[in-house]
Amino acid sequence: MRPQCRARRIALAALAACGCGLAHAQAPAGRVPTVEELANDNKLFLSLAIKTFKWEEPAEPAHIVGPIWFVGTKGLGAFLFTTPAGHILMNTGMPSSGPMILESVRKLGFKPADIKLMINGHAHIDHAGAFAYVKQQTGASLAVMQQDVAAMESGDRSDFKYGADFGYPGVKVDRILRNGDTIRMGDVLLTAYYTPGHTRGATTWVANVVADGRAYVVAFPDGAGFNPGYRIAQDPSYPGIEDDYRNTLHFLEMLKPDIWLAQHNEYYDLEGKRARAQSAGVKAWIDPEGYRRFIAGKRRAFEDEIDREHGVPVRAH
Ligand code: ZN
Repeated sequence: MRPQCRARRIALAALAACGCGLAHAQAPAGRVPTVEELANDNKLFLSLAIKTFKWEEPAEPAHIVGPIWFVGTKGLGAFLFTTPAGHILMNTGMPSSGPMILESVRKLGFKPADIKLMINGHAHIDHAGAFAYVKQQTGASLAVMQQDVAAMESGDRSDFKYGADFGYPGVKVDRILRNGDTIRMGDVLLTAYYTPGHTRGATTWVANVVADGRAYVVAFPDGAGFNPGYRIAQDPSYPGIEDDYRNTLHFLEMLKPDIWLAQHNEYYDLEGKRARAQSAGVKAWIDPEGYRRFIAGKRRAFEDEIDREHGVPVRAH
């Protein structure tokens, strides 16, 4: 591979840390920035990611399985869990996404006022951006992993990589979660697992739901991705980050979900699965092998990064 091709591939792969499947990535002005440029310029990274992954474009909502519905934007995963006792909303996308998400809830025939609880994958602007808005519109309470509470309440002004560059409206946390805590509403059981690395309190959610008499384990893996400029092994972004990633990867490798969804839609192929679900129904969403491949990719990227930081040449995959 020619050196500039390799540099381009690496830059795209780095951007992909916040979303993969970058085969169709379009850089502004036709030039892909280098990893260094992305690592050193938070605003460039954010603006490119917003555009490339369509974070701020509205999307059609969709039914996934049983009580779980997709209500996110084109690029960002937000999910509604509906129960007779009230609904749960996971993630709110960018600060601009609030009205789109509530519109999706209405389109599906549900009432935003019935959202009683909100939960989050991790405290970055592309998932936590509109909690303040949705809370103000619905009165829902918010439950967050302990180590991400300060970030969410301050609008992420002290993120270890982004400082105040990716700030969003802060929101009061009503319930502080710890590893293994559960939330039960109606027939939905959600368990919060502490999977730090990507942020200090990144949370992997596992939902146990029943549809048509069958039980499903649905995972929402989080915490294992790293963005350009994160330092893990040498001069670490925060003390303990390498151990956090190792524990998180180990945990995610142990999970065996039937269905998996994620904070970024290209991770789990929302478009492909929703198209297949038209005829195949819930079977289109069942994808334990896709989950295994996704986590294996995260493991490989992590080990490559460790090698790179130690100055070991990265193997071609
Ligand atoms: Zn993030």
